[in-house]
Amino acid sequence: MASSTSRSEVDDDRYFFGKISSEEATGILLKEGGEGTFLVRESSSSAGNYVLSLIAEGLPLHILIRKYKEDAFFELVIEDIAPLFHGLDSLINYYCQNPVGNSTTILNRPCMGEQLPSKVRLHGSSSLLHRSTSQGNVNIVCELLKSGYKKLDEKNNNGQTALHIASMKGYAEITKMLIQASAIVEIRDEEGMVPLHLACRHNRPAIVQLLLNNGRAEIQSRATKTGNVALHEAAEHGHVDCVRILLSHGSPSRPRNTHIETPASLARKGGHHHVLNVLGAHQPPVPRYSLRNFFHGKINRYEAEKILLGCPGKKSGHFMLRLSQRVQGMYVLSLLCEDKVFNYEIAKEGDLLHIDGGPVFESVQHLIDHYVRFLDGMPCQLLYPVPPSSPCSLDLLPSQDYSRCNDGKTNSLETSPLLSSPRCQDSKTSPSNSLSSRKVNKPDIIVTDDLIDLHSPASRPQNSSQSSVSPLPSKVPSRDNLRLDLKSLSISNTSVDSTALSGNSPTMDGNRTDEIFGEIDINRLSVGDLLGNGEFGSVLRGIWLSPSGDQIDVAIKTLHNDDKVNKKNFLKEAEVMMNLNHLYIVKLVGVCHGPPVAMVQELMVMGSMLDYLLVHSDQISVDFHLSLWAAQIAEGMMYLEQKHFVHRDLAARNILLSSLTLVKISDFGLTRALGVNKDYYVASEGGKWPLKWYSPESINYGTFTHSSDVWSYGITLWEMYTFGDQPYGDLSGHEVVESLEKDERLPQPENCPDGVYKLMLRCWSYHPKKRPLFRELASIFRTKPEYVNIKPYFK
Ligand code: AMP
Repeated sequence: MASSTSRSEVDDDRYFFGKISSEEATGILLKEGGEGTFLVRESSSSAGNYVLSLIAEGLPLHILIRKYKEDAFFELVIEDIAPLFHGLDSLINYYCQNPVGNSTTILNRPCMGEQLPSKVRLHGSSSLLHRSTSQGNVNIVCELLKSGYKKLDEKNNNGQTALHIASMKGYAEITKMLIQASAIVEIRDEEGMVPLHLACRHNRPAIVQLLLNNGRAEIQSRATKTGNVALHEAAEHGHVDCVRILLSHGSPSRPRNTHIETPASLARKGGHHHVLNVLGAHQPPVPRYSLRNFFHGKINRYEAEKILLGCPGKKSGHFMLRLSQRVQGMYVLSLLCEDKVFNYEIAKEGDLLHIDGGPVFESVQHLIDHYVRFLDGMPCQLLYPVPPSSPCSLDLLPSQDYSRCNDGKTNSLETSPLLSSPRCQDSKTSPSNSLSSRKVNKPDIIVTDDLIDLHSPASRPQNSSQSSVSPLPSKVPSRDNLRLDLKSLSISNTSVDSTALSGNSPTMDGNRTDEIFGEIDINRLSVGDLLGNGEFGSVLRGIWLSPSGDQIDVAIKTLHNDDKVNKKNFLKEAEVMMNLNHLYIVKLVGVCHGPPVAMVQELMVMGSMLDYLLVHSDQISVDFHLSLWAAQIAEGMMYLEQKHFVHRDLAARNILLSSLTLVKISDFGLTRALGVNKDYYVASEGGKWPLKWYSPESINYGTFTHSSDVWSYGITLWEMYTFGDQPYGDLSGHEVVESLEKDERLPQPENCPDGVYKLMLRCWSYHPKKRPLFRELASIFRTKPEYVNIKPYFK
C-alpha cells in the first residue's frame, strides 16, 4: 500500500462536495481556476465510489476513485496500476506531492467545500464519543448512544474509533454498548489494527470474549502492516489468558504473519514460556469432514472446473480437493465463488501444509477444516463439499497427514451426511453442517472411519518418500569434519548486518528456529532426483531428518570440486542466506561442511520460474500470476535492500516457484553486503557476469546498488511478460552496451500491459536515481484490483 502522510495536509480536508454532477463540479473548478485546482465528490454513476475532479494541463478532468469493500481503502482509477491508500485523505495528500497519473499536475488548490466524511478518512477529529470513551465515562457514552448518535464509527486524529479505544483500554461496559449499537467491529485504525488486535495486545481478556461472542469479530483478521492475527498479538506480548480464549474460539495455533512468524516464534522471542506451553499443548479441533467427502483423486483443473461449474444448484462455497496431475504429490483445493473457480495449491513445508503462506497445519483435513470455519483470505468460505461420483482410491490420500490427525484420541472422524447424498447437495441443510459458525462445535456424529486402519502409524511405511530416495553416497565423516563455522568465513568488502547474525534465524515453519541454519549431519540426509545443475555442481531433491524427527523435503546443492577456493566461493552463498528470513526468499536449512560439501535449502517444488514460463505458458495468467509474482519478487528485493544486500543476479532463472502463487528469490552466489554507510558495492573480482541483466553503471564501472538490482528487476519482468524470451536475443554483451548507450531499450512484449512496460522503462532509466524503488514497485503490483482476494497475504 502506498505510504500515507501522517496527518491531513490540505486545509482540514474541506474539499468534499457530496453528490454533485460532473457538470456542476466542472463549473466549480472553472470558477476557482488554475492548474491543480481540485475537489472530491461522490460518484453518481458508480455507487459507493468517489470522484476526483481537477484541472490538469488546463482542462477539467474527472477521475473515478474506487473504494474497496473493506474499511476505507481507495485507489485512483487512472491507469492499470495505481497505489492503494487507507483513507481518502491519504490519497489526496499523496497526489498533493505526486503527479496525478500521466499528467504533470499535482493537487494544490482545494475548492472550499465540506470536510471529508470521517468514515472515508484515515484520520478524523476527536469527538465527544471518543473523549468520553477514553475517560471510561459510561454515563455519557450511554446517553450519546441512547440519543441515537449516528457517528459511531468516526475516527479520531489517531485514526481510532470509540470501539478501538474501549477495546484498548479494557472498558467492557462501553465495548458492550458500542457493539449493541452496531459499531463496526472489523474497522482498522491507523496501524491497520482492528479492536480485537488491540484487546489482545493490551491484555483485555474480557474484551476479547465480548468481541468474539457479542461482536462476532473475525478471529483471523490480519493487521494491515504486520499481517498479525489476534493470536500473534496476544502471544507476542505474553498475554496467556487472551491466548487461551482465542484458542478456545478455534483460532488456528500456527498462523503466520508477513514475516512468516508464528505466535510461538514471537512468544519464544519475548521469553513468554507460559504462552509457549499453552500453544504447545493445544490440540486442534477434530476436522468436520472425512477427506473422502470431497477428495476426487487425480484430476486436472479443467475437470475440476467442469464438476464445480456443472454442479446442480451450484453456489459460492462449493469445494473439492484433488491431486494435481501436473505436479506430483501436490494437492489442490478447488473452490467455486461467484461462478468462478479458484484453484489453490497446498504447499508443504516440512510435514506441515499451507496455502499461500497462510497458517500451517499438520494435515490436509485440518487445513480444509480451517477454511471451512474461517474466510482467512479466501474469496469465500468453504461451505459445501462436493463428493466424487465414485469413491476415490484411498491410496492417493495423504497418508502421513492423515494418520497424524487420527492418532491418539482423535482417531475418530465425523462422517458427513453427504456421504450418501447426491453430489452438490446443499450441505447447509444437514444438521451437522453449521459451517458458517465461527465456533468449534463438537461433531454431532462420531463414527470410526476405515481410513484409520489404512493409514495408521503401524501400517504406514516409516518414510513415505523413501522409496524414491536413497542415502547420500558418502563416507560418513567424523563430527569434527562436519563442523561448520560459516560466520568465520570472510566476505570481501562487506560488513554484515549484525542484527541479522544475532540469532534471528529463519524458520521453515516459523517454529523450528533451533533446528535450522547450522551444520547438517550428513547421515540425516537422503537424496533423490536431480533438480538442476548449478555453477558448482548439481542440485538434488532430498529429505532431511531433522533433530526433532520431522522429515523435511529439501533441495541439496552439491559442490563437485571442493578445492579451497571453490569451497569458499560456494559457501559465500550460504553465508548470505543465513542472514535472510523472508517469505519471498528461498531459505537455507543448513550446510554440510563435507565431504561432500553441500548446501541444504528449502525445496521449491515447481522449479525455476524461467522453466515454468517456457513450458507452461498456457497455465499462467498475465493479469494474475505475473502481477502476483512481480509483487512477490519486489517484496523479496525490498527486504534484501533493508538488509543492505545487493543481489547482482536477479533474473527469471533465479526465481523459484513453490506454487503457482508463491515465488521466491534464490541464487545468492553473487550477492554482496554493502559496507557500513555505503550504498554501492564495487566488484573487485571478474568471473561470469550476466551482462544482459546489468545496468550501464554496473557494466561500465562495476558498481552495484539497489538501483542496479532494480534494472535487473526490469529485465526479469521483461522475461516474465515474454514468457521466457532471451533478453536482446543473440546480441553480444558488447552490442547490448552500445545499444543502451544509444538509449535503446528492450521492446514492449506482446502480452504486456502498457502500464507494466512503462514501469520496465522506468527501471531502465539511465540514471540510477530516476529508477523506482523496490518499495514502489511492490506497492504498484500488489495493489492491482486482482489482488483483493489474496490481499491479506501482502499486508
Ligand atoms: P542454482 O545452482 O541455484 O542455479 O540452481 C540450479 C537449478 O537447480 C535451478 O534452476 C533449479 O531448477 C534447481 N534448484 C536450485 N535450488 C532449488 C531449490 N531450493 N528447490 C528446488 N530446485 C532448486
